[in-house]
Order: sequence, then structure tokens, then C-alpha cells
Amino acid sequence: MDPLTHFFITSKVISSKARVLLAGLAPDAPFYLTYPVWLMKRGQFIDALLTNDWPPALRWMQTLHHLFHSLPVLLAVAGAIRLRRGRWPLEALAWGLHILVDLPTHSRRNWAPQFLWPLSTVTIDGISWPEFITQLINHVCNLLGGAAARLLSLPEPTDYA
Ligand SMILES: [Zn+2]
Repeated sequence: MDPLTHFFITSKVISSKARVLLAGLAPDAPFYLTYPVWLMKRGQFIDALLTNDWPPALRWMQTLHHLFHSLPVLLAVAGAIRLRRGRWPLEALAWGLHILVDLPTHSRRNWAPQFLWPLSTVTIDGISWPEFITQLINHVCNLLGGAAARLLSLPEPTDYA
């Protein structure tokens, strides 16, 4: 899921406090702070952006991604804070919501979280948000193109996927 959607969901479901909103974005911070910079240094960022062909990230980047999307790690950190402060941190709820929202919205080709890391490497092959939007736009364009062709008595458009 993209940061804007995480931001919106966190503000509507948990809280719109700045600390909570940042916690709702934090699981993706390692990705956004490392992967694009690494691609830019290699001179591959623009090409990847234009072709949508993204090179695999370095192993340590992937490990950081899984660490920050791990429910056991989140539970351990939130539990330690709970022991120290005497209450569960609201930020942990926002962080956990981010992880749960990511599960059905990332395909295995697109950074599917290993949400039980380091206990397991299991992932869910969800529907990638950008792929879903692209397919939806393609279907809507085909429907509109077909309707326009029928109205104007033109040949049906081909599927552009
Ligand atoms: Zn995420």
C-alpha cells in the first residue's frame, strides 16, 4: 500500500496525532530511505521508473523491510514499552494496522511482507495495489472504448494489457 493510503487509513481508524501517523508510515521507512537512493547511485532509477522493471533490492534492504513488517518484532517492542510505561503504545496499533493492510495488498512479486519474521518466511500472495489500479484502468478503458466503438460503429478496441 502506498504511504498516502496508510496515512489516510491510520488517521481514520486509529488517530490523527502526528506520532501515531508517523508510526503508521514507519514500516516502509527503510524501503523509501534506502532502495530509491541505491537505485539512483547505480543510475537505474529513471529506467526502472519508466519500464516498471525494478531490480531486486540488496539482501540487507529486504531484511530491514521484513523486520519492520514483523508482527512478532512489533509485539516484542510494544510489550517492552508496555512493561516500562504501564500501557500499550497507540503507535504500535498504527504500526500493526500498516502490517495488516499490507498483507492482502502486496503480491509476492512486490515486496510481500514476511509478517512472522524471524519465526517464519511465510508471505501472502495478495493483490498488488499498483497492479490492481493498472488493471482496473485498463478494463475501464476497454469498456469505454468498446462502448464508443459500438456507438460510432467502429471496430472493437483490442486489450492493451
Ligand atoms: Zn508496508
